[in-house]
Amino acid sequence: MIITQRLGSQMSPSYGLPRFGDHCTLNQTKCEIDTRFSFCAVACLALLKRLDVINVDKAVEYVVSCKNFDGGFGVRPGSESHSGQIYCCVGMLAITNSLHHVDPDLLGWWLCERQLPSGGLNGRPEKLPDVCYSWWVLASLKVMGRIHWIDKSKLERFILACQDEETGGIADRPGDIVDPFHTLFGVAGLSLLGSYKNQLKAVNPVFCMPEETLTRLGVRTQLL
Ligand SMILES: [Zn+2]
Repeated sequence: MIITQRLGSQMSPSYGLPRFGDHCTLNQTKCEIDTRFSFCAVACLALLKRLDVINVDKAVEYVVSCKNFDGGFGVRPGSESHSGQIYCCVGMLAITNSLHHVDPDLLGWWLCERQLPSGGLNGRPEKLPDVCYSWWVLASLKVMGRIHWIDKSKLERFILACQDEETGGIADRPGDIVDPFHTLFGVAGLSLLGSYKNQLKAVNPVFCMPEETLTRLGVRTQLL
């Protein structure tokens, strides 16, 4: 109870949510506000069933103020669209039942353009492909009902090309050192693609947790 009350007290005067531990109720210049924190806060509060401790409408208003002309979202109002930030904002809006603020066709098109000839996805134009974007991009498309807009088999081949055949781990791109971060998002991406259905459990595109766990907890998210 104490923890959830403190989480709720973190909201800043602009209604953006800062990094936990930043105290900016009175002085916003002393804290770091970022739409990633908006997602983390509502995701934790949803799992704790304590979304009532923040002003959800105002938190949504802040995330929507970070939406750009291309349908994407940035760190703060006016910041460049970025796939990781888009995942956070789309996820935050899904948790708060506010996906009517998203333009799925416009944003879906921008996200599909993240797929490169190798099949891998990047986070922004002119960047290299990276397995973790198999999650950030794919999960956002899944929430918006547009996952079929990318070439699934090419992406699956890219993810598998990043796997170390000796250790089984997955790297950011072929030939690089594997790590737990990219292994998680590679495997979660394969689950979203529907690959290896007998071996991989269905993953929830908002929480990156097994669907069966969220069902057991009674936590639901909006999907388009
Ligand atoms: Zn990465």
